[in-house]
Amino acid sequence: MSSMPQGEQACVKCGGEMEEGFTLDNTYGGRLQSGWVDGPPERSRWTGISLKGKELLPITTFRCAQCGYLESFAPK
Ligand SMILES: [Zn+2]
Repeated sequence: MSSMPQGEQACVKCGGEMEEGFTLDNTYGGRLQSGWVDGPPERSRWTGISLKGKELLPITTFRCAQCGYLESFAPK
């Protein structure tokens, strides 16, 4: 897939206006932007989930102002 989010986007559900944002991870250490990780989650005794050797991409999420539909992108 080569389509990247750019400029004005229309909601695929209702054609409404999409607003750019991101999903928030509230952790004990603070607030983080959610990320996309390559492959299935691997449990780690220390951190909950091991990210060793995995690719982590920040997720940008667009939200439809009209119906609330969310669409996420994790570009490199
Ligand atoms: Zn919509």
